Amino acid sequence: MKLDVDVLRYLTKEDFRVLTAVEMGMRNHEIVPAELVERIAALKHGGTYKVMKNLLKHKLLHHDASKYDGFRLTYLGYDFLAIKTLVNRGVFSAVGRQLGVGKESDIFEVATEDGTVMAMKLHRLGRTSFRAVKSKRDYLKHRSSFNWLYLSHLAALREFSFMKALEEHGFPVPNAVDCNRHCVIMSLVPGYPLVQVKQLENPEIVFNTIIGLVVRLTEHGLIHCDFNEFNIMIDDDEKITMIDFPQMVSVSHRNAQMYFDRDVECVFKFFSKRFNMSFHECTADIDGTAVDTDDSGRPSFTSIAKDTGFLDKELSASGFTRKDQEEIAKFIEGGIKKVASSDDEDTEDDEHISVLNEANTMGVDSLHVADQTLQHDEQVEPEGNVRTCEAGPSSEPENEDGSNEEGDNETVTNDNDAELEKRLNKVRRRAVTAARGGRKTFASRNTYKDKGGKSSNSSKIQRQLSSW
Ligand code: ADP
Ligand code: MG
Repeated sequence: MKLDVDVLRYLTKEDFRVLTAVEMGMRNHEIVPAELVERIAALKHGGTYKVMKNLLKHKLLHHDASKYDGFRLTYLGYDFLAIKTLVNRGVFSAVGRQLGVGKESDIFEVATEDGTVMAMKLHRLGRTSFRAVKSKRDYLKHRSSFNWLYLSHLAALREFSFMKALEEHGFPVPNAVDCNRHCVIMSLVPGYPLVQVKQLENPEIVFNTIIGLVVRLTEHGLIHCDFNEFNIMIDDDEKITMIDFPQMVSVSHRNAQMYFDRDVECVFKFFSKRFNMSFHECTADIDGTAVDTDDSGRPSFTSIAKDTGFLDKELSASGFTRKDQEEIAKFIEGGIKKVASSDDEDTEDDEHISVLNEANTMGVDSLHVADQTLQHDEQVEPEGNVRTCEAGPSSEPENEDGSNEEGDNETVTNDNDAELEKRLNKVRRRAVTAARGGRKTFASRNTYKDKGGKSSNSSKIQRQLSSW
């Protein structure tokens, strides 16, 4: 995905204010009606529509009139909000070349003023093909709406929490620096993914270290669930670093044994194929500790002593609620199963395209007014503590008492704006009619269209170093 950070330079305070207003609107709306954006942004001299036009031009917003007229943030818009927050915090000041493209993420170099280079991972759940959607069908079926940005935020928060916890427990992982929305900043890992390595000086040692990590994770109550040559980095001294853990599960998961065996199998298969290894002599003594193995030398899940409370403890320590956990767990389940059945053919794609479309559009009947207004003279970006994750747009943002936890700089007003209510009711009625009566759409006061086609996906990799 193209990340033209130069655009950031030209975005004004008003642009960010409106972008943030759409983000806030998305806490209650899959598509945010223009009137609501205007109301939340509350620009002093009006002009929200002009700003939205600019944001559409740069593909930071997407205009959607399929069921009712409104806007949503694109991944690029979400990227910019996260990047701006992190730059304001002084975490980094420049974005450089793209380091990697994961299944559901993009990784870029970022640099601080003093030239320290780090890695920035932008989570992009929902980006993969219809095959992925197929595997997530069960998850989507039970929801009236969902929000990829919110799920990406949860994935980032989860990954950041694990990275910090694993680092504290002495695992070879990148240093977790900061996290905001769907973005994780971590230290740059020297070396390359193991999949790119054709030869090793000491394959047995590397193999034992890697299997030792799987076992040690299990002792800590965790299973990686995607432990393979793509997620293991190795440097010139053959030192290993594990990456990519938003999908880890607890050893008390009902399929824990299967996930454990699958992780082990991936490593065995890779070393057998790539380095022609046989394993009997390697696994008797893993990572300095004797581990029970089966006849083929594979470590046995049941014989490992496990700390089952680790995962819950670490997640709740980093502000991950049980509800967040359940939310992302359902999604992760889909993802994990997908890995297991990645040889499936896409025979039912049409069906899944419609699942995606349906799920992407919130039921219009549930459209309701959210009386949110940004406090006018405050900065758009709330400044949070460094090293804490902040909430992203949520489909269910409110506390049980209906209150809304916002940053210090945002104020939720509950003034009964009859005029706004009336206008929104009108939008709602037209939306319901349009949804019931077929595909008829309607133009609001805003007639801007995203002419750039679907989102701003581009396979081109931007190679630049831009700073602010
Ligand atoms: P995904 O979850 O999408 O698979 P990963 O975390 O595995 O994403 O990252 C994808 C690729 O990006 C990796 O294979 C690696 O090449 C690169 N990468 C990720 N994190 C770092 C890092 N901290 N330092 C250097 N390269 C990284
Ligand atoms: Mg990966």
